[in-house]
Amino acid sequence: MSIPTIPAFVAGESVDADDHFETLDPSTGEVLARLAACGPDQVDAAVGAARAALPGWRDTPVAERSRLLSAFATRIRTDADELADLESHDTGKPRSQAAVDVEQCAQYFEFAAGAIRVLHGDVIPTGPDTLAYTRREPHGVAGVIIPWNYPLQITGRTVSAAVATGNTVVLKPAEEAPLTPMRLARTALEVGFPPGVFNAVPGIGEVAGAALAAHPGIDHLSFTGSVAVGRLVGTAAAQTFTPLTLELGGKSPNIVFADADLDDAVPTIVGSILQNAGQTCSAGSRLLVARERHDELVDRVRTAFASTRIGPGPDDPDLGPLISADQRDRVAGMVADAARESRLVTGGTVPEGDGLAGGFYWAPTLFADVDPGATVAREEVFGPVLATTAFDDPADAARIANGTDYGLIAAIWTRDVDRAHWLAHQLDVGQVYVNSYGAGGGVAFPFGGVKHSGHGREKGMESLVGYTRTKTVAVRTRPPA
Ligand code: NAD
Repeated sequence: MSIPTIPAFVAGESVDADDHFETLDPSTGEVLARLAACGPDQVDAAVGAARAALPGWRDTPVAERSRLLSAFATRIRTDADELADLESHDTGKPRSQAAVDVEQCAQYFEFAAGAIRVLHGDVIPTGPDTLAYTRREPHGVAGVIIPWNYPLQITGRTVSAAVATGNTVVLKPAEEAPLTPMRLARTALEVGFPPGVFNAVPGIGEVAGAALAAHPGIDHLSFTGSVAVGRLVGTAAAQTFTPLTLELGGKSPNIVFADADLDDAVPTIVGSILQNAGQTCSAGSRLLVARERHDELVDRVRTAFASTRIGPGPDDPDLGPLISADQRDRVAGMVADAARESRLVTGGTVPEGDGLAGGFYWAPTLFADVDPGATVAREEVFGPVLATTAFDDPADAARIANGTDYGLIAAIWTRDVDRAHWLAHQLDVGQVYVNSYGAGGGVAFPFGGVKHSGHGREKGMESLVGYTRTKTVAVRTRPPA
């Protein structure tokens, strides 16, 4: 089979680069495609194209922008099978999880199509001689840098809000999984978005990503990825005073009280760490359990982990591979370190079995009685690795839950409504779920973190607000002469 070459997409046209890189199928290790490795020249051209498209797009009537966003959602659903196949091959995620991502992606555009019609400014009361009002205006050219774990969803949530509010976009997909974002940029043109509204520049992070983050023609940056790179992007943005949304990592806990319904909770707790092989920023990677039920819950999770079907993503197992050999080696190193500090209950190895050769697999791994200060309880592993810790009372649970540098999401499992609300109030996170686990939630829930998990919100109305800047207009009015 010949390997396709995918160029950058700038002003509605293909633009190649001198260098190229390959994206692999993590389930097999085979090359899926080679892509243009964009450098500063292609990034500059894309920013120029977005700048050129801006006046026309910003002034396109809201109803027309809304209609195009709806058409995009419809087209994504029409292409659902193809997109889910592509996503499953490029990321290794189970096919049914990729299908959910396609639907979520469509819903982001659908949500933005409706939301933009009701996003408006205010009239500020002053006196009879002044009319003061605010306008929500687009920032201008939006730079969007995304990771490899949810390419469809993260493209959907960023681009939908950016273009709905009248911005034009230059998106830099991750080198490990760029195929669906590149495909969506083309689809946007096909459904009628003007050339230059949605440009996409594949490339290496330190080159294309860094060029985009530092480009003086960018008016707003949205970065989703690691803390380390978030810091670099934030530093670049500070030089040009570019407003920035940072969606970074997490160490999110499921907090289980003694009165919780474990039959209900266990499948969700297990799903929250095994979904996408634990490579989810909001993965439920910590399990904090009332001491009297710690051992029982550990046993139930161990049983569930043991029955996990592991296999190539397109075969739709419970658990697919990690994104790359590097990521698998990183997980292996962190697990080996953790096994010296904490009790390994199950997993901790590369799984063996039919169909796994060549892929980057890791077995579901459970550590119990983990000290809250241990590295595996504080640092993001980004693999199917769960650390359980016992707590004594609600205040202890809050202290442990808040005891990492992260603050993305948390879930509370209890039948006690007072306790649930009390704890929800104590937690330093951006989202709290009670007796469920949202993994970022639906398209309407504002999503984002505190502390090292970042700042700003994607999803929901807040996302659209974030892609605008407020202008106040005050008009002195005089009675007729
Ligand atoms: P990463 O930070 O390595 O890469 C993210 C993106 O940044 C990629 O497109 C990459 O090419 C680019 N990049 C790399 N170096 C760059 C540089 N110097 N300048 C500009 N861009 C650069 O992250 P990753 O490994 O792809 O993704 C995993 C991380 O992303 C995890 O920490 C995870 O928690 C986080 N994440 C967060 C969210 C969220 O919404 N909070 C969602 C998904 C992933």
